[in-house]
Amino acid sequence: MVNKTVLGEAQQVKIATELIQMGARLQVLQEETMLSRERLLKLYKEVKGESPSKGMLPYSTDWFISWQPNIHSSLFMGIHQFLLKNAGIDGVQALITAYRLYLDQVHDLEGGEVVLSITRAWFLVRFFNAGMMQMVTCRECDGHFVTHANELHANYICGICHPPARAGKTNAKVRIEQNEEAYMAHSEAALADRTD
Ligand SMILES: [Zn+2]
Repeated sequence: MVNKTVLGEAQQVKIATELIQMGARLQVLQEETMLSRERLLKLYKEVKGESPSKGMLPYSTDWFISWQPNIHSSLFMGIHQFLLKNAGIDGVQALITAYRLYLDQVHDLEGGEVVLSITRAWFLVRFFNAGMMQMVTCRECDGHFVTHANELHANYICGICHPPARAGKTNAKVRIEQNEEAYMAHSEAALADRTD
């Protein structure tokens, strides 16, 4: 067993710590290291200052297909596949390195929001390994995008080339809500003036 040596165990703790810092759920840590559940719980509390979430894990493949998640998932998976082919790493090291590079890319974008969690990234890699998901090439931009396996994708067009109408509506909706908030604040101030 790798973790029976001091060096092996140190390596396991390092991997677990990196995953915890990235926000991984306990199940990911249990699958990707040989540390006991008790040690992982203790390590988690030391690193995060709180216990891990006990909620349901996000295991659906459909999430990766919806518009914004698909763009982020495809970005991550492109990096991950590149690393497997060219960087001589695999397994949890490829997951950690690809996720770190994904975060760098998102942070470089203006107003970049991290949409793909490390736990979802981990599931995505598993879905690929299980043959449930695959990459497809967009016929307009030649980019590679995450999609369900075993579907016909001859004329696939990605979500960047053809964003859904609701993507625009979402922005419009945010603007309306912001206006409403401003209006409410204004009204409240006006009311306060009156009662004074
Ligand atoms: Zn495209």
